[in-house]
Amino acid sequence: MDTLDDEYAIGLDLGTFFSCIGAYKDGKVEIIPNKKDEKTTPSIIIIGLNLDVLVGEDAEDNLVKNYNACIYGIKRFIGRKFSDKELKKEIDKFPFKIIGSEDNDSPIIQVINNGIPLTYNPEEISSFIIKKMVQTAEKYINKKITKLVITVPAYFSDSQRKLTRQAAELAGLHVLRVINEPTSAALAYGFDKEQFLNEKILVFDLGGGTFNISILSVKKDENNIKNIIFQVLGTYRDAYLGGEEFDNKLVELCLDKMINKEKIKKDKLCLKKLKISCESIKKKLSYSDEQILVIEKFFENEDLKIKIKREEFEDICNDIFRKIESSLDQALINAKLTKNEINEIILVGGSTRMPKVKTIIQNYFPNCKINDSINPDEAVAFGATLEAEKLLHNNNNSISNFLLKDITPLSLGTNILNRSTDPKIIEEGEIMDVIIKRGTPIPYTGSKTYSTVSDNQTKMDIDIYEGENTFIKYNHLLK
Ligand code: ADP
Ligand code: MG
Repeated sequence: MDTLDDEYAIGLDLGTFFSCIGAYKDGKVEIIPNKKDEKTTPSIIIIGLNLDVLVGEDAEDNLVKNYNACIYGIKRFIGRKFSDKELKKEIDKFPFKIIGSEDNDSPIIQVINNGIPLTYNPEEISSFIIKKMVQTAEKYINKKITKLVITVPAYFSDSQRKLTRQAAELAGLHVLRVINEPTSAALAYGFDKEQFLNEKILVFDLGGGTFNISILSVKKDENNIKNIIFQVLGTYRDAYLGGEEFDNKLVELCLDKMINKEKIKKDKLCLKKLKISCESIKKKLSYSDEQILVIEKFFENEDLKIKIKREEFEDICNDIFRKIESSLDQALINAKLTKNEINEIILVGGSTRMPKVKTIIQNYFPNCKINDSINPDEAVAFGATLEAEKLLHNNNNSISNFLLKDITPLSLGTNILNRSTDPKIIEEGEIMDVIIKRGTPIPYTGSKTYSTVSDNQTKMDIDIYEGENTFIKYNHLLK
């Protein structure tokens, strides 16, 4: 393999369900296919009996027989606290065991291998996925990769970002930059140019199991007009809405068409097989009106054959579609904007390939342009690759004249006394006093004067929190 001097720019979208990697080659972005010639790779790993680690498409092939040894959805756990009540609710949804670290309250994944419990922290699991993605890219471009740009959701906290960076370092890579997924999608469509200044861009990301809407505004950095920022005006997030929900609907529809439905529902292996086939049929239904689902030797050695029309699939998903519409309402409320103020819409995430999803968005924003010329599940990696190219080769002619600046993803501040007279408000405890607002270009220096609690006090501890809640207990303490 050749080594460095002429480095390729690499951008990685490390997804909850699927990951995607791109390289800047011959003056353009190429999204790199895996062994199965797919441009996105499942973010799944299986720890084998001999401690061999199967990742991505290799793990996918062994999914049915190793279901209990399989680890997925790790992005949901990185940088979170095991004691977090929300996380506790989510843990039950996973087939692997999650315990709390005694040192720092972080979640740890436990798998039993040959009767011996093995533990991994989320960044280790992520590093396996990153390594695999990079190896695929190295093979494709026939060059060793040492640097990359990696993406994270806009709402990721400081510790989630740090640990994502750490995961890449564990995989032996230097992270040029961590950028927000919606920003990356906006870069992919070239919205970092003069003519888009002050435009409002809605990035609609419906992926495998999460749904994120981010509304961005293209701004010049007030301190340096050569810098551009994508200010996040508002976001809406549903951590459990995505492709999987549609797969489950299709499973239900198929089960309803079977005479021995009740028996099959009790057979875990059959259900798993059915779910895998349903996902594949769902994808095909985005491009055809009708599909036939076939599983050989499905139950009691009998083959399964079911005809499914797109229309009936869409009908049973109506409640999900309604949820999507109300999420758009909520995202606009959160960004304090009306629908007429949105200039551009970008489709991101594999589930936006569904024609009905596109129709819903177009009907909601009848006068707005929908950007979908880049494959939606590749747009984030595409933008990250452009950013890597700019950082590595200072290529500012073909891409954009502006330099992208980082912004604070969440507001930063400290705790102050709650001076309310309302007992309900007092009960909530100390107040978050914001010093640096969310969306401020960094580096930035902010200051505020505080007085001590008692006279002649010479020392005090100052805690820094990040978050948007009025009350400190709902925000994260930075350590
Ligand atoms: P992530 O959420 O990890 O970022 P992606 O954006 O790649 O993942 O989205 C993956 C989801 O997109 C999966 O649920 C997959 O079934 C779905 N998907 C991919 N292609 C299609 C398609 N043609 N039609 C409908 N859904 C699709
Ligand atoms: Mg994604």
